[in-house]
Amino acid sequence: MTSFITEISAPDGHKVTVNTGLFINNEFVTGASTIDTINPATGKVITSVQAAEKEQVDLAVEAAHKAFYGGWKTTNPRERARLMRKLTDLVKRDAEDLVHLESLDMGKPLETSRAVDPSAFIDWFQYYAGFCDKLHGKVIETEGKLSYTVHEPIGVVSGIIPWNGPMIMLAWKIAPAICTGNTVVIKTSELTPLSALKISELIKEAGFPPGVINIITGYGSKAGEALSRHMKVSKIAFTGSLATGRAIMKAAAETNLKKVTLELGGKSPNIIFDDVENLDEVVFWSHLGIYFNAGQACCAGARIYVQEGIYDQFLEKFKALTLSKKVGDPFSAEIFQGPQISETQFNRIMNYIAIGKKEGATCYLGGERVGDQGYFIEPTIFTDVTEEMTIMKEEIFGPVVAIAKFKDVDDVIAKANNTEYGLGAGVFTSNITRAVKVSNALEAGTVWVNHYYSQTPAEPFGGYKQSGIGRECGEYALSNYTQVKAIKINTGNPF
Ligand code: NAP
Ligand code: MG
Repeated sequence: MTSFITEISAPDGHKVTVNTGLFINNEFVTGASTIDTINPATGKVITSVQAAEKEQVDLAVEAAHKAFYGGWKTTNPRERARLMRKLTDLVKRDAEDLVHLESLDMGKPLETSRAVDPSAFIDWFQYYAGFCDKLHGKVIETEGKLSYTVHEPIGVVSGIIPWNGPMIMLAWKIAPAICTGNTVVIKTSELTPLSALKISELIKEAGFPPGVINIITGYGSKAGEALSRHMKVSKIAFTGSLATGRAIMKAAAETNLKKVTLELGGKSPNIIFDDVENLDEVVFWSHLGIYFNAGQACCAGARIYVQEGIYDQFLEKFKALTLSKKVGDPFSAEIFQGPQISETQFNRIMNYIAIGKKEGATCYLGGERVGDQGYFIEPTIFTDVTEEMTIMKEEIFGPVVAIAKFKDVDDVIAKANNTEYGLGAGVFTSNITRAVKVSNALEAGTVWVNHYYSQTPAEPFGGYKQSGIGRECGEYALSNYTQVKAIKINTGNPF
């Protein structure tokens, strides 16, 4: 069998071996072609990985199908939990390898990746491992029948994930699916395959039976499309753009009506009232809310609305904090912001900056490329924005924020909800009544009050309006991965 083991050296000298084959049935196998994966800090190729097309997708789905009916569906829940916890031990052991791959492949600063990625993966797996033996139905009293419900797995579940949080997205898709007894086929983003491939090795080492978790790398137009049209895939959990979400729903409708959950984009408002007690704290959270992950976050607080009385003061402090943060090589010390993921994304963001200027907004800070290699962009602030401007309506998915003034509660609620999206929202106020009133009125799946961005495995996450369908995380996610059966026993009625 061909070996796909490749040694990769990070700029700090750390070396990692990765198996770059498609992980199907606990083996690393050949694809239909290869994909070069790029280091966005340099624009240079790191290595190439195998790319699945329809033939390999069929193999992966068959393996998952066989594993589902061959036993995973009925595996003792405590055994499922044991394997999930074993995987978290291995992720902890190999955390340094994983964070190096993540930083190299997607450009996340190494220090940030160290702080968030392995621990998030572990938290999500441990949380859902706890649910393996807690999937209870109900007993329903009826006339002469004993009725009870059982929550059964759906079958082969496919997770199609984006590039902006590869390790975390992997955990969000795999953990709830397998704890409920489904088997999975994951397709990673073509831009960031490496950390998922390393985790594939750990899945095998943990002892998961072949076919329970399959991870394939490949292009959306080939592997993603084949998964979304596959007759034996019973559910797709997708995170990515609106356009792809629509394509997946259409493919599901045209084939086997597979169940679809979608986590899509956003243009989240962040509202700051003039009664806040500590403006420095507000500035800290608002800055993190837009610039974390170089602005490449679906729930980024990209529209900041500040009440008139404190607008100038907020802007000054926000600018000062932004200027104090370093943009640069993800492997250098104290870097807050790395590169954008790709040349395409870089050009897309620069185009939005140009549109913002053309439509009459003031580019108050930034707006330019940083350095002469890789895809770095200055953190950018637009002011003098109006609701009609493109940069107030469309998701930029980069380090670009629009800061606007508002007068009163009704004014800002109307503005905040003036969007096709509804993923996240922030509210800063020291008035509890106002906090509750505004939170209730906001059309968003998550409202953060007096902070931004916290997310634990226990809380549901998902979108209102066109930000998505269904909820991931928490107990709520389990309903996406189970189907309910009512069993009715005649308890003695002759007719
Ligand atoms: P994308 O282009 O939609 O890609 C997401 C995934 O879908 C990738 O694996 C992609 O493969 C695949 N794909 C592309 N075309 C497909 C098709 N026709 N059928 C099936 N799969 C297909 O999105 P992205 O550029 O990676 O990510 C950025 C977007 O995701 C942003 O809009 C952002 O808001 C959203 N996002 C949302 C959340 C959330 O939780 N709501 C989280 C992160 C990102 P390729 O890699 O080959 O293109
Ligand atoms: Mg890459």
